Amino acid sequence: MILTGLKAVPQIVLAGVLVFFFPSISESLEVPRIAIIKADDVRKKTTKWDKFFEVSRVRGVPVSAGVICNSIERNDEHYSNWIRASHESGWVEFWNHGYDHKRWKGENGLKFHEFNRTGYNHQKKHFEACQRLLRDVLGREPIAFGAPYNAIDNDTLRVIHENRNLHLIFSYTKKDTSKLNALMILRGEQDGTGRPNFKKFVSAYEKTSNIRFTALQFHPNAFDANALGEYIKIIEFLILKGWKFMLPKDYLKVG
Ligand SMILES: [Zn+2]
Repeated sequence: MILTGLKAVPQIVLAGVLVFFFPSISESLEVPRIAIIKADDVRKKTTKWDKFFEVSRVRGVPVSAGVICNSIERNDEHYSNWIRASHESGWVEFWNHGYDHKRWKGENGLKFHEFNRTGYNHQKKHFEACQRLLRDVLGREPIAFGAPYNAIDNDTLRVIHENRNLHLIFSYTKKDTSKLNALMILRGEQDGTGRPNFKKFVSAYEKTSNIRFTALQFHPNAFDANALGEYIKIIEFLILKGWKFMLPKDYLKVG
């Protein structure tokens, strides 16, 4: 009965009604727009991390979070259990954010980072240590990597290439690697580390509205109440615009 009734409605009228009530329908019917939330610098269980996971989850947004893995060496069972439980919830995926997150200046003023100018042996040791420490907690190695300060060199690409369990790297620019590049095309924190700015985000978004993918970097443990509010506005805006949020493991299947 209902089908017969619908057939009677001229299609053009139906389309008009749909566009009237669902103005974003044409946008959402296009190729999906995918974002991965890349949250940096997990060092311990904090109420800020829990709050960040919670405000994301209630909006249907899964988030990925980078662990600085020497934090796991404290053998704090409370912390390990929290990592495991968050991961197993299905709403959080942890990734390799290095072993010690260090950077320093050399004698000649050159900047060194954990994964930049430190040589193959140093980087191999640090990268694999983090993979192993997270595997000990989660039962398997993380599949994604994002370097501290996003600073990497050719040694890093070699180290990553050699690890069969690693499949995705976060980066600002496309790297010559066998792994999937998850590019941060849009900036999550327009006012600097831990400081998202919704208005500035929207104006940057409008200049790049043809993009179909971005990783979005945040430092939730550095959020104050205002920053958390700006973050929420950003994800709600993207949801309205038809974006889908994915974890690295799910993006691997479509990316
Ligand atoms: Zn970091």
